[in-house]
Amino acid sequence: MTRFALLFAEGETPGTSELEIGLYIFILAGFLGYHVITRVPPLLHTPLMSATNAISGISLIGSLVIAGANYDPLSTALGFLAVCCSSTNVVGGFLITDRMLKMFKSERESSERGFLARWAVPLAGVAVLGVLFVIFLGSKHIQAKTVLTYLYIISAVLFILGLKGLSSPRWARQGMFLAEFGMVVAIVGTLFHEEIKPSGYWWIAIGLAIGTVIGGTMGLRIPMTAVPQRTALSHSLGALAAALVGVSEYIREISIAEDRVRMTAVGFEVVIGSLTFTGSLMAAAKLQGLLPGAPITYKGQNTSNFALLAILVICLLSLILAPSAGPVFGIMVALALLFGLLLVIPIGAADMPVVIALLNSYGGLADAAMGFVLMNKIQIITGSLDGTSGFLLSLLMCRAMNRSALNVLFGAFGKIEKGEEGPVGEAKGTVRSITPDELAVVLDSARSVIVVPGYGMAVAQAQHGVSELAKVLKKRGIEVKYAIHPVAGRMPGHMNVLLAEANVPYDQLYEMEQINPYFGEADLALVVGANDVTNPAAKNNRNSPLYGMPILEVDRAKAIVVLKRSMRPGFAGVDNELYYNEKCMMLFGDAKDSLNKLFSALKG
Ligand code: NAP
Repeated sequence: MTRFALLFAEGETPGTSELEIGLYIFILAGFLGYHVITRVPPLLHTPLMSATNAISGISLIGSLVIAGANYDPLSTALGFLAVCCSSTNVVGGFLITDRMLKMFKSERESSERGFLARWAVPLAGVAVLGVLFVIFLGSKHIQAKTVLTYLYIISAVLFILGLKGLSSPRWARQGMFLAEFGMVVAIVGTLFHEEIKPSGYWWIAIGLAIGTVIGGTMGLRIPMTAVPQRTALSHSLGALAAALVGVSEYIREISIAEDRVRMTAVGFEVVIGSLTFTGSLMAAAKLQGLLPGAPITYKGQNTSNFALLAILVICLLSLILAPSAGPVFGIMVALALLFGLLLVIPIGAADMPVVIALLNSYGGLADAAMGFVLMNKIQIITGSLDGTSGFLLSLLMCRAMNRSALNVLFGAFGKIEKGEEGPVGEAKGTVRSITPDELAVVLDSARSVIVVPGYGMAVAQAQHGVSELAKVLKKRGIEVKYAIHPVAGRMPGHMNVLLAEANVPYDQLYEMEQINPYFGEADLALVVGANDVTNPAAKNNRNSPLYGMPILEVDRAKAIVVLKRSMRPGFAGVDNELYYNEKCMMLFGDAKDSLNKLFSALKG
């Protein structure tokens, strides 16, 4: 009898079956994830994405068993590949999260040296757990299976504490340290899994080594500006691991045992895993510039996509009714891979962050489905946490961009329809320009300046220049604040990561709601490569595609200077009324060059 058949048999008794317990855990972990993740401030949304990505690499434990159990050569090969993919995610994800979190410092923390004061609690926790771990493993009275169950419970608690740490930049690194330890506990415990044969350790060791080298290189070397494409690539690897394990389980057991309940879980795992794999690869290629970033649309696109989805669902249903229909399984996998590609094709590269967050949540669901297939509760928990986090982040982004969630869920977005664009380039008044020398004079008489960074700062890599300018101004007694819009740039928390990289203390960064009341008192709003997030049309032009999006109220400052190269619009493709405001002056040119010229002028 298969594991799932046993579960069903258990279900016939009045007690609770393993499947029911799994479902309860999935739902409760989702609620817990919602509460923990809604407390993560926008400042840490980018690290949150890579942290959940690393934690979802827990699919590694399922992969380790398949690779090491010597079921048959195909299963071993698929398990080995899954180990490579999952371990790449674990190592790469935790390393890049730590690199990011290390950069987030407040002014006080930058000068603080209290290593023990900061790390004593996590280190003591790890020491206690380490002792328990050794006692458990060494105990002759406790069964190995029971030990593993408790180790997984400890890991799950550590993962949740890790995510909880992300609710404050002060404790985020320590929290991630606990999550990393939780991962080590789960992996080392799984190495003692009863189904792993001694000869299987070779495959495991080679797979882990490959994953560590690839993940380590990615985690340590990838520049911060490439974080979105790295995240997309990791989602694709995680999803591939889930799909491979699902295929191996189907071939090995389900097609033979005609197990319908288990077929349902495997079907979900393979379909979601496959479409997330190709969809995420496509997203990574668009963001890396390997594929054109513009949306590719054609007539009847939505209809054909929905038809494909319908065929996929029919395949899945027919397999649930007749699990041994191998050819249908093959067709279903191929269609899911194709569907992932078609889902992302019509979306522009600039819209990818929403898609990546959404694919993150799909990847979480694939992991959770894998947890149901292997009846591994820690995978159900992490899959549910990952799914909730991705879904919440995509909803937050949609809200901040004033887009509907349905628009995101059903694809074909990211392209501004003809007629929606608004009056691009239409002359609306006089545009005043300013030179760096003149700006230096304006700054001389200012007492308070609010810096508004946007996507152009990332393109120009001007964050270091911005940070240096703020230091110079502060030395002259000028108060400097940074205004951060939740969707400035091209990923959640984009500006926070870049400014943290340039050593700007996070307590100088103000979120939109906090900073807007200050604009009225500011002598100067210095807009560095931001456009849409400052457009007053979002407040006062009902016909604008931006209408309803909350913006930074730059137009209330006493004077405004915008650093950008031309009058070209930003991501939304609409003209910015701000540039015709009589208080506004344009400093045309690459933001980094303009800042360099401004420094020379200030020295002069
Ligand atoms: P934006 O509206 O896209 O504007 C960026 C501006 O930067 C452009 O107008 C461009 O003007 C300027 N620029 C580009 N390269 C530059 C350079 N080297 N030096 C100086 N300026 C340069 O950016 P935003 O104000 O940050 O707004 C973000 C937009 O992205 C929003 O519409 C948001 O909805 C969308 N979005 C954000 C996310 C997210 O998670 N953050 C996700 C998806 C979509 P020039 O070409 O004239 O220089």
